[in-house]
Amino acid sequence: MATIFELKNIQHIYNNRKALDIKYLSISKGTITGLTGPNGSGKSTLLKLLAFTMRPTKGTILFNGKIEAPFSKCVRFGVTLLTQEPYLLKRTVYENISYGLRIRHKHGISGNSDKQIKMKIRIAMSHVGLDFNIFSDRKWDELSGGEAQRVAMAARLALKPEVLLLDEPTASVDMESAHKIRDAAKKARVQWGTTIVIASHDINWLDEVCDNHIHLVEGSIVS
Ligand code: ADP
Repeated sequence: MATIFELKNIQHIYNNRKALDIKYLSISKGTITGLTGPNGSGKSTLLKLLAFTMRPTKGTILFNGKIEAPFSKCVRFGVTLLTQEPYLLKRTVYENISYGLRIRHKHGISGNSDKQIKMKIRIAMSHVGLDFNIFSDRKWDELSGGEAQRVAMAARLALKPEVLLLDEPTASVDMESAHKIRDAAKKARVQWGTTIVIASHDINWLDEVCDNHIHLVEGSIVS
């Protein structure tokens, strides 16, 4: 299986304190990797580095065999990170989910007509169990925490991402939303071969879906 991420001699340091120290790690395309470890062990830091939202203090990260700069086009349109507390635009559900599709369109990544965008939003919303007719015109502040997280997940799924990084996506949502988010992640791999990395304390979920498991302690991989 081809390698999508390769990390070599990675260290990340915040305020003179080492948060992550990984000699070598490779992640294969189309796999689901579970990431566990106590709070503060470096899971979010690793996910941010894989999302290329920041550079490691030291070391090299190859994405599809190439070094990528934070926010390079290739990374921005291929890799997406969903955090525990998602950020939504202060707009409707429809506008939140269409935002990424419109930016892609602007950059000539995919030719999305308004009709195609609407169809993609409908499909993405159905993946997370949100009825288009009920939710598409709802504003960001008319959603429960679980619904907001599902909107954030739908916004990522609408892009059919090459890589989906999930940082405790079900930690602060209701049971139904957690179930829909877990289901949607599974479908993304089956339908598009999306490579997924999930940081979660939900060991049952990780055991069920993951091909590989990384356990971090104080910034190092211990298993
Ligand atoms: P986890 O996701 O496993 O809880 P994090 O990656 O969030 O771990 O944090 C790893 C360590 O780095 C912790 O000691 C945390 O306090 C520290 N840390 C994380 N982000 C920052 C930051 N922006 N500035 C300073 N220290 C940070």
